[in-house]
Amino acid sequence: MHLSRRAVLALATAASMIAAPGFVAAQDKGTIGIAMPTKSSSRWISDGESMVKQFTEAGYATDLQYAEDDIPNQLAQIENMITKGVNVLVIAAIDGTTLSNALENAQAAGIKVIAYDRLIRESGAVDYYATFDNFKVGVLQAESLVQCLNERFGDAKPKNIELFGGSPDDNNAFFFYNGAMSVLQPMIDAGDIAVPSGQMGMDVVGTLRWDGAVAQSRMDNLLSANYGDKALHGALSPYDGLSIGILSSVKGVGYGSGDLAMPCVTGQDAEIPSVKSMMAGEQYSTVFKDTRALAGVTVKMVDAILQGGEPEINDTTTYDNGVKVVPSYLLEPMALGVGDIEKVLVESGYYTADQLK
Ligand code: BGC
Repeated sequence: MHLSRRAVLALATAASMIAAPGFVAAQDKGTIGIAMPTKSSSRWISDGESMVKQFTEAGYATDLQYAEDDIPNQLAQIENMITKGVNVLVIAAIDGTTLSNALENAQAAGIKVIAYDRLIRESGAVDYYATFDNFKVGVLQAESLVQCLNERFGDAKPKNIELFGGSPDDNNAFFFYNGAMSVLQPMIDAGDIAVPSGQMGMDVVGTLRWDGAVAQSRMDNLLSANYGDKALHGALSPYDGLSIGILSSVKGVGYGSGDLAMPCVTGQDAEIPSVKSMMAGEQYSTVFKDTRALAGVTVKMVDAILQGGEPEINDTTTYDNGVKVVPSYLLEPMALGVGDIEKVLVESGYYTADQLK
């Protein structure tokens, strides 16, 4: 049998893809490259698993890669997917601004790009954005912080809080912060809430790479510099991994025991350590974003793109990435308190009861 050079190359590429780690074969509707930021946070593991499952059910092969929060690593993974000729790229960027060149190559090769959860900035080659209403996430965090402050420290005026922001290279971090401040700023202006350190604004409260250890040491410093003569009542935390760090810090100086009540700490993602912390009466709340639903929206978008249809979008104004307003589908986030865990997380099958023991 004589094979053309092209056929040999195609066979070799197919063989190398099947052998590559992260590659899951399915029927032949195409291959989807999925670039996720890190496995250090369980939410991104759930995102990846849900996408592989749902893409496979829809007849696609997947190439799922994690970059352990290393930007050059993620870039190399994406370039590799482009070279292999994936049909669509689904990317949750580590740094939303560093992918422009690679994405131009994708565009030139006719590969559509979906920004997944995090907006990819400064690139005209982003076709769609699938995410949650990120401003609303911040609003929900601040509302639950205020609810807890009123429950635990109703008589205190002002109620003393500190603010934590997400990673400044993640567009979402600004939406979370701005959403939260839309609730908190009027209360700060009215004197009901105070920020004793005076540290406000994403340029000072941001936490690079969403690193819990960084949040913990910043909280240590804030406590020793500003709380000699007053009590901390709460902390705005935009992500469970930071909340765990903040809680370690406050517990380290005696909050949550004796007459030092546990400060109110918010979060996001309903990660298992935080759900357990809520069950233990420490973290007050989290924001649940069902990664199964986000995967579902993404799979539908990809299927529409590749089958020649129009993906469903519900927002065409909010997400300007510096080059274009990216057509988006926004899902609804949900504030989650300790009383919601059983119904929302366990009964829906997001976690098993055993995982929360
Ligand atoms: C996501 C959050 C997550 C954070 C840290 C953000 O872009 O929207 O769900 O908590 O990254 O991983």
